[in-house]
Amino acid sequence: MIMKVKSKKISLIFLLFSINLIFSQKDQSKLIPPLDIPLSISGTFGEIRSSHFHAGLDIKTGGKEGLKVRSVLDGEVSRIRVAVSGYGKAIYVDHLNGTTSVYAHLKNFSPKIESYIKKAQYEKKSYTIEKFPKNELIVSKGEVIGFSGNTGGSSGPHLHFEIRNTKNQMPFNPMIFNIDVIDTKKPVIQKLFLFHENNFGEDIITRKIEIEKIKDGLYKTAKIYTSGKIGIGLQMYDNQDLSQFNRNGVHSVKIFLNNKIISDYKYDNIKFNDSEYVNLLIDYKEFKSKKIRVQKLFKPKNSNISFIEKKDKNGKILIEDNKSYNLLVEISDFKKNTSKIEMKITGRKTNFINPTIEGELVLPEN
Ligand SMILES: [Zn+2]
Repeated sequence: MIMKVKSKKISLIFLLFSINLIFSQKDQSKLIPPLDIPLSISGTFGEIRSSHFHAGLDIKTGGKEGLKVRSVLDGEVSRIRVAVSGYGKAIYVDHLNGTTSVYAHLKNFSPKIESYIKKAQYEKKSYTIEKFPKNELIVSKGEVIGFSGNTGGSSGPHLHFEIRNTKNQMPFNPMIFNIDVIDTKKPVIQKLFLFHENNFGEDIITRKIEIEKIKDGLYKTAKIYTSGKIGIGLQMYDNQDLSQFNRNGVHSVKIFLNNKIISDYKYDNIKFNDSEYVNLLIDYKEFKSKKIRVQKLFKPKNSNISFIEKKDKNGKILIEDNKSYNLLVEISDFKKNTSKIEMKITGRKTNFINPTIEGELVLPEN
């Protein structure tokens, strides 16, 4: 009898303990925003930069410096860097869930971190410094760890924020962790190009296809006549409700050929080696000459980008003479706002130098 009561009591305690654990874990896993202001973005995860895929979010600070930057979860500071280039003043915080949050281009650190790094700077007699504290700088969720700034390779005040896998330091899209950015706006498609392989095996732009905006999120092209193996390239951007004038990167790309998916890639995590191939994912000639980034929607030749399909679904389309194809491209942002572009393609031998475009369509304004 006593045993029974005791075991009931134990199971009740255990139950309460488990509930408490689940709640605290749930609470623990929920990130708070790194800034106190509504988040407005001037750079999305994975967007194509001059020599790399952007590894985090660029969060706008209203043109100001000195905004409080908070640790998004409980954790311990695992790395502090002060440099004149790159991330400038940056803090890395390791969390129990196996992620590391990174806060870069800071103006300065919280007093506790500032005095730690000052001491290290005096000891090393150097401004630039890198420290890997161990169990020395514990921070709690919401604690101010620094102040936003414009240090390092930054071209205006903002917070560069990342979430990495602590084990291998590979960056995740922070949006996966509910870093909330209001976004009801669909990506904008500006220009569409066809690629063919030239005699040297390079994918080159052979045609610019006029596009017509039917309504917000829906575009069409005139009927396209072409032949051989083609690829699609888009000039496009995305923006969010609080950053309507920014031209940020999109999150995912899908191509359907006669309703069957033939290409599908998205920016959720990036490996360091991916950046080696970033200039292969755009038409480099177009970028060099016009500063326009035409993003390939197919696997670029000689590239090895971790998030782009390698074999069957490589995004290239074989157009055979006298056959007709319905092509649908879908471009989405992280909040699944989607823009579509519909194309009807008929196989016909074409001269790349003097291509035929049927119908008269007006290029939509940006
Ligand atoms: Zn950045």
